[in-house]
Amino acid sequence: MRVAFPHMGNAYIPLRALVEHVGVEAVVPERPNRATLELGAKHAPEFVCLPFKITLGDCMNALEKGADTMAMVCGMWACRFGNYGHVQHLILRDMGYEFESLLIGREDPRAVWEKVKRAVGGGAFRRLLGAAAVFRAKAAAVEEIESKARFARPREERRGDTDRIMERYLTRVDEADTIRRVREIRRELREEFSALPLRDDDDVLRVRIVGELYVLLEPSLNFDLVRRLGAVHGVEAQPILSTYRWLLSPLWLDPFLHVSSSRARRVSRAYLPYVLGGEEHMTITGALDAPRQGFDGVIHAYPLTCMPENICRTVLPHISVTRDVPILGLCFDEHTSTVGTNTRLEAFLDMLRSRRGRGRNAKELEAEGVLRA
Ligand code: SF4
Repeated sequence: MRVAFPHMGNAYIPLRALVEHVGVEAVVPERPNRATLELGAKHAPEFVCLPFKITLGDCMNALEKGADTMAMVCGMWACRFGNYGHVQHLILRDMGYEFESLLIGREDPRAVWEKVKRAVGGGAFRRLLGAAAVFRAKAAAVEEIESKARFARPREERRGDTDRIMERYLTRVDEADTIRRVREIRRELREEFSALPLRDDDDVLRVRIVGELYVLLEPSLNFDLVRRLGAVHGVEAQPILSTYRWLLSPLWLDPFLHVSSSRARRVSRAYLPYVLGGEEHMTITGALDAPRQGFDGVIHAYPLTCMPENICRTVLPHISVTRDVPILGLCFDEHTSTVGTNTRLEAFLDMLRSRRGRGRNAKELEAEGVLRA
């Protein structure tokens, strides 16, 4: 069995470990880029959302690299994500590719398990438990690397230091083969980041990024938004979602994630009392919390035809006014240009800086009664 799964940010690191520790080969194609998106867009329905197109191109790259089994998490989402795997695999088979499907969350779990057992042979369950432990350790390590890099990047004294450290440690975590080794790497990572010379952070703008999961986490879709904000504009960008959260939430491997998800549903209930199937509650809560958490503004990033995020779009202007927090909407599809996105981003950041200059920060707004707890 040669298993492939679509890319999403750095999720391939823990996913590769999971697959390989279960005892089968993982096929990881090159990271998605413009060509991957164009390839997927050519074969996908025109009005399907953007993540479908790029992950379709990604699947084609994996099959060309020799994958014989395509794994996809489907779930029973109310939005289109629930049908991604099924429809993508139909398209790929129409194109002539031959492969086995593992539609996790849609197929009967016993059928998925039988396929894995057939490929792995004896001791499959024991191997799965061990694989889950390494998977969790690597997901936590990736989370720590990403979060330290997000903080350090806008404050680094020598431009590019943070990215160099980040890339080196991501590779080391990817190559580590035991949990003990991952722990050692994390220790060294902390030492290296604490020795990194950082400048005083008084003037660093902080921006909360909310929106659809895939656009938030996949740099090839959002024009490397988080890194660009930090490295080019000197802005600390904090997305509301992370690879760790996406990977561990459905598996119930971290109870804290469920506490924060139910808080998000509670806090946003006045605006969205029902589930739309995407990240809508996190989006609304992220925007509501932003001023109190010290963010200067919010960027809402979403794919053009995304149903949950387009509904959030109708709610966010109201939050922007009542909470006095500037919100920039960035809509992405395969025609979105880097230049247009950068121009809007620069104008937004200029405006945030001028607000900072006027000195209205979250504490003062709270004192003025503009912010509610
Ligand atoms: S959340 Fe939006 S972009 Fe993602 S699958 Fe659902 S509709 Fe598509």
